[in-house]
Amino acid sequence: MGKLYNLLVIGSSNTDMVVQVDHFPKPGETLLGGDFFMNPGGKGANQAVAAVRLGGKVAFIGKVGKDIFGKETLENLLREGINIDGISQDEVHPSGVAQITVDKNGENCIVVASGANMALGAGDMEKNSKLIHQAEIILLQLEIPMDTVSLVVKIGNEAGKKVILNPAPAQALDDEVYAGLFAITPNESETTLLSRIQVKDEPSAAKAASFFHEKGVKVVVITLGAKGAYLSAGEYKGIVPAPKVHAVDTTAAGDTFNGALAVGISKGISLREAVEFANRAAAYSVTKKGAQSSVPRLSEIE
Ligand code: ATP
Repeated sequence: MGKLYNLLVIGSSNTDMVVQVDHFPKPGETLLGGDFFMNPGGKGANQAVAAVRLGGKVAFIGKVGKDIFGKETLENLLREGINIDGISQDEVHPSGVAQITVDKNGENCIVVASGANMALGAGDMEKNSKLIHQAEIILLQLEIPMDTVSLVVKIGNEAGKKVILNPAPAQALDDEVYAGLFAITPNESETTLLSRIQVKDEPSAAKAASFFHEKGVKVVVITLGAKGAYLSAGEYKGIVPAPKVHAVDTTAAGDTFNGALAVGISKGISLREAVEFANRAAAYSVTKKGAQSSVPRLSEIE
């Protein structure tokens, strides 16, 4: 039996393989690139790592392949202090990988091969039913099959869990999914894709939040980059500003924000305080390079 937890992340894990290039190759071109980096990634794993570093008690349900990347992913999450009882190694599909090229202007091109992440299905949820029922908060993203997301929202909601969905990468959602959510945490572009409302200021954020509330979502948190986040819940409606920082690399700012927000909620602080905490953690992460490597520990933001 793994470590005790109250926050369960169900989602993706990937290995990011990054090569620096001068310019992006044209079709058919072979390019000699620069340095190569291999980093743990995937929205699910990033958010779980953020949550555990920020003081959460975290378990993870996910799927990796029976390969070297899967083994590394398991070891990494275990080392971070995450309960990995719910991660299985798929016999057929390889572990998820993301091929990332970054050019000299810092632009990137990314191809994700989801592999085992897209094989996480109903059978895995049944197998991990005890893990799901022991959680208080369930944090989801959209890098696993939509059917699995819908099923978890249904199970979680029926069992009285607080289900938080970070709808990234953005995809249309069924009404039943919205209706089962405690909270939704889109960024500006995801908000526009889902609600068809362009978020540019506080009134438009409020309008978008109403769209989600009308669908049955209790708490809406729209992340606004350097501006912070718009929170709409019974007790509070308005922008919660982020601390001003010198941004170096925003990779995984959203993942850090979501992990931190879930920790705040799992600790029972007010939603406004949880968003302030998430802003502080995410703002810190943009001052450092990389994904998981930029996620702060609690002591660094206190
Ligand atoms: P990403 O895709 O880069 O991980 P995102 O698009 O999902 O991020 P954003 O809304 O850009 O999400 O950022 C998430 C949170 O990160 C913000 O709500 C804020 O707390 C923090 N943040 C992002 N950029 C900055 C910045 N320049 N200064 C301070 N905080 C920032």
